[in-house]
Amino acid sequence: MNAPGKNFLLVTGILYIIFGAIGFIGALGMQTMVQAAPWVFAAMQFAFGVNIGFLVGLLFVASIAYIVLGICGIVHREKPEYGKPLMIFVIILAIYELFAAFLYSDIIDFSILTLIGFALPALFIVGAYKNHDAWERDPVHKLKNTTVNCHDCLLPYRADLKNCPHCGTENPNKPPIMASIKTDQNDTE
Ligand SMILES: [Zn+2]
Repeated sequence: MNAPGKNFLLVTGILYIIFGAIGFIGALGMQTMVQAAPWVFAAMQFAFGVNIGFLVGLLFVASIAYIVLGICGIVHREKPEYGKPLMIFVIILAIYELFAAFLYSDIIDFSILTLIGFALPALFIVGAYKNHDAWERDPVHKLKNTTVNCHDCLLPYRADLKNCPHCGTENPNKPPIMASIKTDQNDTE
């Protein structure tokens, strides 16, 4: 099955991994500095009212989530059925970022953060949505969500099955439907 969003997911996935790695190293560095010079951070906390420990924690969580999302996007870029879970993942992460940015709006540089924080999820969503859309339109997948009634036992069953699972009677619709799908797909590709 074709996955029209695969290139978007590949590029944004790589960027997510890169920014995640940078964020992780940054969080690690901050963590080390907090331990080496706690008084500096106590002073910062006093001056800006920022809890550095909490900020470091937020950064750790975000950078790990970035790396995991990037890997998931790359690994599943050619599987349209993963379009929806990927969209949900990136939206949750964007909400988390929005929350963190709001919390630290006094000390965070918005020009850089807006670009990474909002352009990247937007592009990732485009890729995931393209795949999800292709999955929704896929005729074989559609057939799985359709039921037919057996003409022998009259019970409903999934339209893509060869035989009725209740009595074993052959699905009379299947061969022509599947044949037409095959040619339809070849025509559009
Ligand atoms: Zn039947």
